[in-house]
Amino acid sequence: MQIVLIGPPGAGKGTQAVRLAEHLQTPHLSTGEMLRDACQQQTEVGKRASEIMQRGHLVPDALVNEIVFQRLSEADCQSGAILDGFPRTVPQAVSLDGWLSEHSRLKIVALELRVAEEELLERLATRGRQDDDREVVLARLKQYNELTRPLLDYYRDRGVLRVVDGSGDIDEVFTKILAIVRKVTKN
Ligand code: AMP
Repeated sequence: MQIVLIGPPGAGKGTQAVRLAEHLQTPHLSTGEMLRDACQQQTEVGKRASEIMQRGHLVPDALVNEIVFQRLSEADCQSGAILDGFPRTVPQAVSLDGWLSEHSRLKIVALELRVAEEELLERLATRGRQDDDREVVLARLKQYNELTRPLLDYYRDRGVLRVVDGSGDIDEVFTKILAIVRKVTKN
């Protein structure tokens, strides 16, 4: 099964994805991490993505799709993966659905990690990553609201969206996520 984590920057997607991956022994794909690696190694993808990421914008769909589908084709992802930060736009989700159905991998659950904006800003102010400067954070939140939020309706309409209250304690949030995943995998 593919588990898609959706949430604004600072919602805890990365933290929860790592824990979930460990618990379920399933690969964790973070497009943000893959892109940051590509930037550091100055690959072709990295060169194209770097300046866009520094502004807090989303890199082009085609570029992200390519790195994700390549990774999903690898042997360890055959029975599923935890997707952290992908899809982030409706066209990415449509491409993912197309790819999954071509590869007969139909089971998917999308988890929305919901956190109030004030709490996000507080968390991001103390995280200290290069793209966490206030200006950039605001740009990333704007991109989330404009481009990623419509994804929630997309998955809600397909009946695969589950909402998790992502505020507060990391352990509590993880317990809620796990309960949902267990329920979905039983069905
Ligand atoms: P993240 O670590 O998930 O917050 O991602 C960091 C940055 O990588 C984002 O602000 C985007 O610039 C870029 N990025 C990550 N995932 C995607 C995606 N699915 N589509 C477009 N850009 C992405």
